[in-house]
Amino acid sequence: MCWVRKPVCYLRGLSENSILAAQVFHELLGFNVADPTVRVGAASAAVDAARFGDGEVRVTLAAHAPYSVSPAMFRAIRVAVDERPAPVTSVHLGESPDEVEFLKQGTGSVRALLEELGVWAANWEPPGTSPVTYLSDLGFLDRCALVVHGVQFDGDDLSRLAALGVTLAACPRSNVHVGVGSPPLEAFYAMDVNVAFGTDSLASVSDLNVFAELKEARRIAPRSAPSAHSPAVHRDGRDWEGSRCRGRRGETQRRRPRPCPTRTPGSRPGDRWTDRAP
Ligand SMILES: [Zn+2]
Repeated sequence: MCWVRKPVCYLRGLSENSILAAQVFHELLGFNVADPTVRVGAASAAVDAARFGDGEVRVTLAAHAPYSVSPAMFRAIRVAVDERPAPVTSVHLGESPDEVEFLKQGTGSVRALLEELGVWAANWEPPGTSPVTYLSDLGFLDRCALVVHGVQFDGDDLSRLAALGVTLAACPRSNVHVGVGSPPLEAFYAMDVNVAFGTDSLASVSDLNVFAELKEARRIAPRSAPSAHSPAVHRDGRDWEGSRCRGRRGETQRRRPRPCPTRTPGSRPGDRWTDRAP
């Protein structure tokens, strides 16, 4: 099981020399899998076997995307995640217009790619809905889910994510690199969605520098995005995973960095982002 052992060993080395805690998402793919429950069960067992001694670096299961994971596999992942001490998960969602077309009509480049790869499922019916509605109706999204991208989300999608308490991780440099446009960050904030930032991966961005993502976010949404020059502080100063979904809170809080003391005049504890630079 080198897919989990190698990163786990690498991260164990990091954790021994770092004050940082980490949550690793092991992404599963399977659009045409005979028995998703068996596939997910095997992955869950491997993740359990890779447990860390000090508990600061944890591994959980995640779904890749709605075009690479079948509905049955989404449900199986959700069940497996719900049984974990910290039931966090993740999914890449609403990244491209091609994904939206695929879910609405079952056509386009995504369909062609699945057929080319030999993993098209003839019994799959397009839900005919938006990506958010699709996964929400499947029961995959909740306050412990991290949704990545959201470039194609409209007001209804964002309203639903806000109501569910989902955190939306934008990866603006990756989105530009793959040619799907920039995420509507001003709308994310206007709709009161929990916003985070990530890099996606080195497959679509030149480095893993989150501060470079914040700089790009600031360019896209100068009125709302956090500054690249100060630490981002979420609501009450707690990190997403630690404050919302982590099981053993005491361990998390012991190493939690202190919130940035610099606040915009008029801001107060409980504001969404309290570190907006002038
Ligand atoms: Zn992605």
